[in-house]
Parts: sequence; structure tokens; C-alpha cells
Amino acid sequence: SFDVTVIGAGMAGSEAAWQAAQRGAKVRLVEMRPKKLTPAHQSDKAAEIVCSNSFKSNHISNASGLLKDEMRKLDSLIVSCADATSVPAGEALAVDREAFSELVTERLLAHPSIEFVRDEATEIPGEGKVIIASGPLTSDALAAQIGQLTGRYDLYFYDAVAPIVDASTIDYTKVFRASRRGKGLEADTSDDAAYLNCPMNKEEYTALWQAITEAELAPVHDFEDIKYFEACLPVEELARRGERTLSFGPLKPVGLEDPRTGRRPWAVVQLRQENKAGTLYNLVGFQTRMKWGAQKKVLQLIPGLENAEFVRFGVMHRNTYIHSPSLLDATLALKSDPRIRFAGQIVGVEGYLESAAMGLIAGLNSSRETPIIFPQSTSLGCLTHYVAHYEGKPKDFAPMNANWGMMPPLEGDRIRDKKERGRAMAARGQADFDKAREQVGL
Ligand code: FAD
Repeated sequence: SFDVTVIGAGMAGSEAAWQAAQRGAKVRLVEMRPKKLTPAHQSDKAAEIVCSNSFKSNHISNASGLLKDEMRKLDSLIVSCADATSVPAGEALAVDREAFSELVTERLLAHPSIEFVRDEATEIPGEGKVIIASGPLTSDALAAQIGQLTGRYDLYFYDAVAPIVDASTIDYTKVFRASRRGKGLEADTSDDAAYLNCPMNKEEYTALWQAITEAELAPVHDFEDIKYFEACLPVEELARRGERTLSFGPLKPVGLEDPRTGRRPWAVVQLRQENKAGTLYNLVGFQTRMKWGAQKKVLQLIPGLENAEFVRFGVMHRNTYIHSPSLLDATLALKSDPRIRFAGQIVGVEGYLESAAMGLIAGLNSSRETPIIFPQSTSLGCLTHYVAHYEGKPKDFAPMNANWGMMPPLEGDRIRDKKERGRAMAARGQADFDKAREQVGL
């Protein structure tokens, strides 16, 4: 018999299984891949990374950095595997995606208290504790079961994936290597600076912008009304908003100087290293639903990518999540049946790390007599607070990244400098987190 059944070995499910097992539970982890793939996953590995290889900022003055710090203190599987397989990315924690998922899988398989079962869960187990971590691309059969269980399963938005280019097909006479000034490797133009930059003059930028606005888009199935997540807008959606939206947004040249001209370009497309070997790069901010033929033509307008080969084109997918504020408590248990917990993106958080964080909370709490709720001033606590106690209009509830805005403001005068404020928020969060851990003996 098993203490806890975890459905889905993605970011959240892998972390949940690990946490519960490490704290003494006997865990059955059920994953449908490779028998059945989702529209985005391609392998049989646990915690497969479906899009960007970045886990965002590693810096403590950022809410995502604080979240990593808290997760490290709680023996997070996902963060320790990300640390072990990281690639250069300035202040961000980015990973070699293959090595990362391989390591997560290995560690789960090697755990004596985890049974890793390869099967699609089409029903929610009627006995024992359950953690549903089937993700934004939950299979239809299970989605129907969740719908029955929760009484409402009508929320969705669309996420978009950026293309990946083969590094050997980039024209290195046109691009230059550098990190943005003030980010990580200070204006570093050495061989191991984090990004490749494709500089554009005004004419080149305008031509690219025009081509993006005119490119044919892949149809959206099922729904007429598309809801985007603001932080992950497709490039064509940004382009549609105005001619300079991209050059003031993901293509902004700020902090970058082309060593060939000694000047700041009009706009820059940044390429971020994908794997440890540096053989693949992704196009930062270029998530898209342009049709593949059209996409290739558009991307080849970027200086340095004229003859580039794309190992993966950008795509868009439906994303599903439950209405947690009416369904879950802050330990992620279903109010109507606390035996069942949800974890990951499906509870209404956004991002690999945030999803894993919700797996950590669900796994931890499923293995304890008295569940733990971290204070809202911590990154883990602000996420569970958000999903359980969302204060906006019910219909506006949407997946959220960890950010300082979700935490109570600092007491006293407002600190103007962003980094300084971040550091103060992090210091308060760390102190509150350590106190909470001490109280429960973690
Ligand atoms: P997943 O990691 O998707 O894990 C769910 C697992 O459950 C999968 O392995 C799946 O195969 C399995 N499963 C589903 N149904 C069943 C079933 N019935 N039985 C058994 N197993 C099942 N976040 C970022 O931070 N950066 C990005 O660049 C990014 N890009 C994204 C692109 C796309 C297309 C999507 C859909 C999401 C993206 N996200 C991104 C957001 C999201 O946070 C990540 O997808 C994250 O992996 C979610 O973690 P999860 O554990 O909730 O789900």
C-alpha cells in the first residue's frame, strides 16, 4: 500500500514525490509519458523542460531568487538538479535541459521509497493521499475527472514557446557576445559571456517588425477568445501593439554596445545558451504562433540568422488550471476532500520553479500530521497565499509568477532603489522563513 499517489512526474510531481518520500512516506509516482505524450513534451524523462531553459533569477534581491533560496533550504530536488546542471546565463539559473531531466529521473528512480509507474491516470484514486500534478497539459481523461471533482474546470489561457537555433549555423561575423551591462557578467564581451546578440539598425528592425505583423499565424483550436499571460506574450502580439513595442521590450538594446561599431544598436535580438555544450541557442522573447514556414522567413531577417537552422520552431498551447481560491486551502488541499491535494501550474502559479515550489508544499504537507503554511512574506508563502486567498474578482484569477508585489509591503519609508528594496524584502523573508522552519522543526 502507498501513503501518497502523485499524478504527473513534471516539475511539481517530481518535487512532490521527492519531498514526501524524503520525509518518510511511501510514494507511487504515476507518469503517462512515454506511453502518451502531451502536445509539448517530447521525452520519457521526469521534469522535462518544455520551453525556455531558464529558471529565472538566482539573485536574492529578486523574488524568484528568494524562492530558490527557500527551496534549497528544504532539500528541493528540482533546484539541486538545476544547480548541478546549470549553464552560463548571467544572474539567471539556466540549465542544460537534457542533463537536468536526466538527473531528476535518475534520483527519483534511485529513491527506495518511490515507485515510478509509467501509465496514464484516468481516475483519481479513491483511497490514500493523492497529489494531482498533471500540469497545464493534463490529459483529457484526467481533466474530465478533475472537472467532476471540482465542479468547474473552465479556466485556461495560451502559452507560447520560443524557437531554438543550431549554434553552428549562426553567422558569427554579425553577432556579438555580451551580457547586458549591470546584469551578471558586467558588460562582458569575453568568450563565456552569457548571450549572443544580433544587432539591428533602424531599417533592419523596421523590416523585421513589419514581417512579424504580416506573418501568417497557426489557427487556435477550440476557443474563439484567446487569453494570454502578460509575461509570456507572443512576439506577434507585442508587435501588433505598436512599431516600438518590441524595441522597448524584449528587443531593447539597453546595456549593449556592438564592439564593431562601438555604438548601441537600434534593437537587439538576444540568443540565450540552451545546453552545456553551447550547441543550441533560444531566441529570447520570441515565443510565437507564427506558422512554421512563415516563422522561418521572419527569423532569417535577423542579422546573423540569415542561414540559420532552427531545431525547434515556436508553438502555442492551451494551458489549464483550476479555480484554486474557491477550491483549495493554503496547504493546497481540496477543501471538500483534504485527502487530495493539487500542485504545480494547475493550482494557478506560472513557471517551472513556481510549479516545483507548489509540488514541494503539497509533498511536504502530505507527509505530515500538522500541515505547514509559510508566512506571506516568504516566497513559498506568498504563492500559496495567492492561490488560496486571491483577492481580485474570481474571474480574473490567473497563474502568477513569484514577485514582491504578492507580499505585504515593508514597514517604514518606501525604499526607492529597486535592488535595495528587493534586498530588504528578501532579508525579511529569510528571517520569517527561518523562524517558521524552526517552529515546526524542519
Ligand atoms: P508539467 O511539468 O507539465 O508536468 C505534468 C506532468 O504530468 C507531465 O509530465 C505530463 O506528462 C503528466 N501527465 C499529464 N496528464 C497525466 C495523466 N493523466 N496521468 C499521468 N501523467 C500525466 N514556464 C517557465 O518557467 N518557462 C517557460 O519557458 C515555460 N514555457 C511553457 C511552455 C508551454 C507550452 C507550457 C504549456 C508551459 C510553459 N511554462 C513555462 C509554464 C509551466 O510552469 C511549466 O510548463 C511547468 O512545467 C509546469 O509544471 P507542472 O509540474 O505543473 O506541469
